[in-house]
Order: sequence, then C-alpha cells, then structure tokens
Amino acid sequence: MDAVSENELRASFVNCSRSEAKRMTLPAGLDALDWEPLDFLGWRDPRSPQRAYLVTPHRDGLVGLALRATGRSGLRPGSGLCNLCHSAHPAGDVSLLVAKRAGAAGRNDNTVGTYICSDLACSLYVRGLRPLTLTQPEPVGSPGRVERLRDRLAQFVDRALQDDDALGA
Ligand SMILES: [Zn+2]
Repeated sequence: MDAVSENELRASFVNCSRSEAKRMTLPAGLDALDWEPLDFLGWRDPRSPQRAYLVTPHRDGLVGLALRATGRSGLRPGSGLCNLCHSAHPAGDVSLLVAKRAGAAGRNDNTVGTYICSDLACSLYVRGLRPLTLTQPEPVGSPGRVERLRDRLAQFVDRALQDDDALGA
C-alpha cells in the first residue's frame, strides 16, 4: 500500500467516533515504515493490548477498523489459523478480533469477527518477511497467496461496512 499520513490514518476509521480516532495510539515509527510490502497496516494499542487497528486501501478509499480482542488471554494449547492470511500459529498468537460494524448496525452493537494473527502482520507472513514457527498449510511464497489475503481482507471489510438498513433487512 502507499504511505499514509497520521491524519489520513485517523480519518480512515469507519467504526469508531471521531474522538476515539483522535485519541488512539498510532504505531511507533510511522515515518520510517516500509509500506511497500503491506496489504494493510495493523497494530495493537500498546496502552490497551486488547485493542487492535487495521487500515487498508479498500475500493477507492482508505478504510480503518477498530477491533477488539475477545475471549481468554494467555496461553492456550494447540495451534490456530489466521483467517486472513492462513498462517498457522501457536494458538496464543492468533486472536479473535471483533469489529463493530459501521453506521447504525454498529451503534446497535452489531459486530463482525474473525481470527487474525495477533500481531496483525499478515502481509509480512505471506511474503516470508517475518518467520513462522509451525509447519504451514500453505507454504510461504506459494502463488496467489498475497491476492488471497487481499480478497479475504476485502470480504471482511465489506462485512464490517455492510449496512443492513440499506439492504432493507
Ligand atoms: Zn494473518
């Protein structure tokens, strides 16, 4: 993705209030960040680790989603799979992240959730830029992996953006 300024990042959020977007902690070192290998920018809030954020180019714009990790924290047995990039991790390194949906649906506490790499570094994993410890169902560098990550991400963002009222539901 192209580099995004701090103001653009804060303005991209569709599922939290303006004041929340203004207050949120942005990732450190934005100026020095290599954006080129990123399909989305994702980070955890260091002051409030169950909060996570994801910003991605989507359709013709930039969409930011505020996410919240749910469920038990700490070590769990077994392994888990990220639904976006299909990387396998020890279970504690995959989080169920839930986004309030945009608009009226979100104000009614309507959410969408999925399992995502806890460090939100999917873009780096599919490119082999961050090592993985477990045997992978899809080898790093297999053809189409980046495109599949982008497709799954776009579907997740669409689910968060979908307005049931607009669909007459
Ligand atoms: Zn992932």
